[in-house]
Amino acid sequence: MPIKAVRGVRDILPAESPRWQRVEAAGRSVFEAYGYREIRLPLFERTELFARGIGEATDIVQKEMYTFEDRSGDSVTLRPEATASLLRAYIEHGFQVQPKPVRLYTMGPMFRYERPQAGRYRQFHQADVEALGETHPAVDAEVIAMLMDFFGALGLADRLELHVNSIGDAGTRPAYRARLLDYFAPRSGELCPECRGRLDRNPLRVLDCKTPGCQPVIEKAPSILDSLTAEAAEHFERVRACLDAMGIAYTVTPRLVRGLDYYVRTTFEVLTTELGAQNAVAGGGRYDGLIEQLGGPPDPGIGFAIGLERVVLLLGDEASAAAPVAVLIPLGDAALSRLLGIAREARRRGARVELGYGTRKLQRELERTNRLGAGFAVIVGDDELARGQALLREMKSGAQRGVPLEGLADELVGLAARPGAAR
Ligand code: AMP
Repeated sequence: MPIKAVRGVRDILPAESPRWQRVEAAGRSVFEAYGYREIRLPLFERTELFARGIGEATDIVQKEMYTFEDRSGDSVTLRPEATASLLRAYIEHGFQVQPKPVRLYTMGPMFRYERPQAGRYRQFHQADVEALGETHPAVDAEVIAMLMDFFGALGLADRLELHVNSIGDAGTRPAYRARLLDYFAPRSGELCPECRGRLDRNPLRVLDCKTPGCQPVIEKAPSILDSLTAEAAEHFERVRACLDAMGIAYTVTPRLVRGLDYYVRTTFEVLTTELGAQNAVAGGGRYDGLIEQLGGPPDPGIGFAIGLERVVLLLGDEASAAAPVAVLIPLGDAALSRLLGIAREARRRGARVELGYGTRKLQRELERTNRLGAGFAVIVGDDELARGQALLREMKSGAQRGVPLEGLADELVGLAARPGAAR
């Protein structure tokens, strides 16, 4: 029996890679235009970083981490998200002395032991962006603008909804928690068993529940926006004013509380209606006490993570331009020797060419050229070699002409530069 990949973990095959490259390139160019710099982080950390940084009571820490002991008996965990690692690096390398906000981004795989389904995997990829050391509401708005510009650069903006909310500050929570408990306690019989547990631990989490049976109760729950402290309300108003000033469309969704413990004030999420249950494409928020909680300076922060698998899914089956401009077909060893050097020169100058090895019949080589989608075949047999010529055949029309071997590399480079060079 051949060995298969682990459940919930997938290969990104060559047909899909061009879309990944496009998504990653769009991220880099948009983030860097806003002044963010890339940081590359380890894929695993000490387990306690995530326990402290994400919150002991969260689903991620309780149920979803890939945690193991390494050979020296230390407990390490494959990162389930990037924020905790990025903040660990911020503290460890003394980034707080740099001009604020310190703007960093990273991209790569994350690991969560979740139930796999379409759009949800156990190894998945995120682009993660964080602005650290500044509380001004314009930072929140700019971070959100950048996220929407990323989707705009990929032509996806019209297919996505931006939801924003404020979950207040330390002064907001106790009052809202009490109001929520007052509301939910007499209705706990209408909630799912998991939500009944959440009522004890953190009633805000109930608002996050996706179980259909809980929705009617959740929909009528009191809004957190009515419990905001004056400062939190003002911050949110200013964030919204900045978004309006940039012409960014959004919906205020008071039930958007997000799954992680560390958020305060601004939270936001980008949703799609096109991917079924896995409708969140990106999410983020402000986490002003987190850096300090991890043993660092009292610097505030705000950031988001984009689920790259879901972005790639939204892009659909875009054509990938991966066909060679030409296949060089030597008919024998002498022609092969000559074409090896010509192919190498053309490739060094950026032309995508393939080379046969002189072992197949011409007819087979031409069929292969067709299957590769190449625009041209270049045929060199003993006769051509003797005349110092190659035969250049346009695959679509079948038209053929002679090209001097001397100038063949130039010719290939010229063909590759033409728009629509490969078919
Ligand atoms: P979170 O870190 O949970 O806020 O997730 C941020 C984004 O990552 C989500 O909006 C999803 O797009 C994506 N994401 C989270 N978990 C998974 C998963 N298991 N598989 C694929 N994408 C995920």
